[in-house]
Amino acid sequence: MTQATVTTQASADDVLTVAREQVLERGIGLSREQTLGVLRLADDRLEQLLELAHEVRVKWCGPEVEMEGIISLKTGGCPEDCHFCSQSGLFASPVRAAWLDIPSLVEAAKQTAKTGATEFCIVAAVRGPDERLMAQVAAGVEAIRNEVDIQVACSLGMLTRDQVDRLAAMGVHRYNHNLETARSHFPNVVTTHTWEERWDTLRMVREAGMEVCCGGILGMGETLEQRAEFAADLAALAPDEVPLNFLDPRPGTPFGDLEVLPAADALRAVAAFRLALPRTILRFAGGREITLGDLGARQGILGGINAVIVGNYLTTLGRPAEQDLDLLGELRMPIKALNETF
Ligand code: SF4
Repeated sequence: MTQATVTTQASADDVLTVAREQVLERGIGLSREQTLGVLRLADDRLEQLLELAHEVRVKWCGPEVEMEGIISLKTGGCPEDCHFCSQSGLFASPVRAAWLDIPSLVEAAKQTAKTGATEFCIVAAVRGPDERLMAQVAAGVEAIRNEVDIQVACSLGMLTRDQVDRLAAMGVHRYNHNLETARSHFPNVVTTHTWEERWDTLRMVREAGMEVCCGGILGMGETLEQRAEFAADLAALAPDEVPLNFLDPRPGTPFGDLEVLPAADALRAVAAFRLALPRTILRFAGGREITLGDLGARQGILGGINAVIVGNYLTTLGRPAEQDLDLLGELRMPIKALNETF
């Protein structure tokens, strides 16, 4: 064994030993520096890391896995320039603006409830809602609450105080608004609004009593330091749920030519975010198929994830809901057989 290898192994042991005592035993999430140490772990420590992340998830979140459906009320034609997003109207992307009607929305909520999902999230590709969208959402939420036994969440971009209060009064249970990436990397990803504007919406959502759902996308050219910074940003926000996406480079977007995040890096990041956010619902969102393939469903979930989106995502095809349902039995099992795959 070379000196360099010995050093790597020793420091890896240190990070995971500290994490076991601090996060698993005491429930205190990793700091930014500690998270960076985890993100720098060598591939031969990945199995040990995923195992610890899974133990942390089970201890602090329990064995349940939350399932959520997602529907696009207004698709495409967004005036913002988030460089990863095929719904921006500023890029040569294939997604054209379209609206869904209320009966279709209710039907989608019914189908989602049948899968066993407990959350149904209404999404619109907008900077923030205008009156037309607020009226559509109000009608949709009321119709769903009357006909379907499911919690309704919304993701409608940046909100004013008045809009936050109105959504809360409608009975919206959770609001999703992603910070997307570390504060220091955000200007490289979005130029039409700021990270701080997003933060302000999240603060108001919390103050209005709705659950906060906030995550982002990994693999957008951020450094490991910025990935750790993002985990620390989220830990400071303490959201109820963190959806983790991996960049699925969409043709025609400014990030269309970026490389897909290697599977080992994605898994390491999932586990690191779990160790930074021991009590949060950590959800696999878009991009997992392209990054992780079949690995993602099993190792990623066993490595700290405790929620999934069922069925299709907003603009790309996800896995059929049945495949996720098949996984639920496995999700309660302790990690095993990772060596067979790595
Ligand atoms: S605000 Fe949302 S829908 Fe609009 S470009 Fe950004 S990520 Fe896409």
